[in-house]
Amino acid sequence: MTGWRNWAGDQACSPASLERPKDTDAVTAAVTRAAAEGRGVRVAGSGHSFTDAVLTDGTLLSLERMRRVLDADPAGGLVRVEAGITLRELNEALSELGLALENLGDIDVQSVAGAIATGTHGTGGRLRNLSAAIESVELVTADGSTVELHPAEDPDGWRAARVSVGALGVVTAVTLRAVPAFTLEGVDSSLPLEEALERLGELIDGNDHFELFTFPHSELALTRTNNRVQGPPQPRSRGREWFDDMLVRNHLFGACCRIGRARPRLIPRINRTISRAAGTSRRVDRSYEIFASPRRVRFTEMEYAIPRGRAAEAVRAVRAVSDDGGFDICFPIEVRFVAPDDALLSPAAGRDTCHIAVHSYEGMEWEPYFRAVEAVMDGYEGRPHWGKRHFQTAQTLSRRYPEWESFAAVRARLDPGGLFANQYVDRVLGSAAAAPA
Ligand SMILES: Cc1cc2nc3c(=O)[nH]c(=O)nc-3n(C[C@H](O)[C@H](O)[C@H](O)COP(=O)(O)OP(=O)(O)OC[C@H]3O[C@@H](n4cnc5c(N)ncnc54)[C@H](O)[C@@H]3O)c2cc1C
Repeated sequence: MTGWRNWAGDQACSPASLERPKDTDAVTAAVTRAAAEGRGVRVAGSGHSFTDAVLTDGTLLSLERMRRVLDADPAGGLVRVEAGITLRELNEALSELGLALENLGDIDVQSVAGAIATGTHGTGGRLRNLSAAIESVELVTADGSTVELHPAEDPDGWRAARVSVGALGVVTAVTLRAVPAFTLEGVDSSLPLEEALERLGELIDGNDHFELFTFPHSELALTRTNNRVQGPPQPRSRGREWFDDMLVRNHLFGACCRIGRARPRLIPRINRTISRAAGTSRRVDRSYEIFASPRRVRFTEMEYAIPRGRAAEAVRAVRAVSDDGGFDICFPIEVRFVAPDDALLSPAAGRDTCHIAVHSYEGMEWEPYFRAVEAVMDGYEGRPHWGKRHFQTAQTLSRRYPEWESFAAVRARLDPGGLFANQYVDRVLGSAAAAPA
């Protein structure tokens, strides 16, 4: 393979060198070689970002051969893994140790390093994003040295490396804190959108994990609540799993999107029909089986983190854009919640957060819709998901992150020459040369 392409198929590059190191020493050798030859370095995870975060014409590293569990302390809940391990592989390894990640997003195919680099999150008003589970980070830096960033020895380095957009170096291993394995009851249901927005506080705080979806032109909110329960998991039969995850969520939904793309005037009716047909379902299973599901319908996405207290009005404002802006949108708006954390570039840094995501089906025009929604998010000091589309620059973002300068200082220390920069990093974080020393 000489070229690279993301999952959505709309970000691609042809790096001068594409390498698959097998361990940290091989990463160091690749970084040193690239630096000597004057080439930039980026790392590809599983390619599930929608932005050009990965792209380079220099050296692209894939850590797909670095997926081992290196060490585990089941009693203390600490697990050390190589950075290329996927969340799915990590979840299964943790399960065998009687452990689990406290919270997860809605897919599990990302690499651990890729997921934390962009601030990937799930939902749960009392729970933080994935990077908050990181106890320490092993990083190969621009001069080829390997550093272990730990809160006790280098608090700012550690807080920077947890959500780094790949701008500090190559993450080769991380130590994570897990929790005892748990069972979740997941209930999907629906209620009028206005009622959901009026009862938002109660729905978020009354459930371990609450999120809602609302289709443009529908009066309904489709709700998903996941709560911890005692007792054993009750896995679905293979047939049931295929029916729910593949037939309904992928094949039927994909067919609706294709019809909507071919005949946009039908979209409002299709969206209302899907919302009404959704009904109620209940599952009880291991936590990670409830959180994640397979996604075959391709799309592109933008997601913003705003203060939780503004969530209801922001959802109404986004619905006004999606319903009245003249856009053809077959995908729902997704609304999730996370607790504040202290990673310097975490979109949830320092504030209770509501994430609002908008999507556009593959092959449909997305940019005018996303720009219109972004204008709404600007009014709420919105911070974009680092792995999802947005149009911000370092200039607009620096005002929205209280500890922006601290991140810039860590970057100037670890990558003074911008070896790990690319166009995306330059746009959203500024060029390394401009960072304070
Ligand atoms: C279908 C779908 C569902 C999604 N669901 C969610 C969700 O529920 N919640 C959510 O928050 N996000 C979600 N996302 C976004 C996704 O979690 C992020 O974009 C995540 O970064 C993807 O991980 P990845 O392994 O594919 O990384 P990539 O997209 O390959 O890379 C992401 C960034 O990490 C950097 N990177 C990767 N590995 C390393 C490394 N070892 N060292 C240094 N830098 C590295 C890359 O250079 C890049 O900048 C979803 C995306 C898709 C396509």
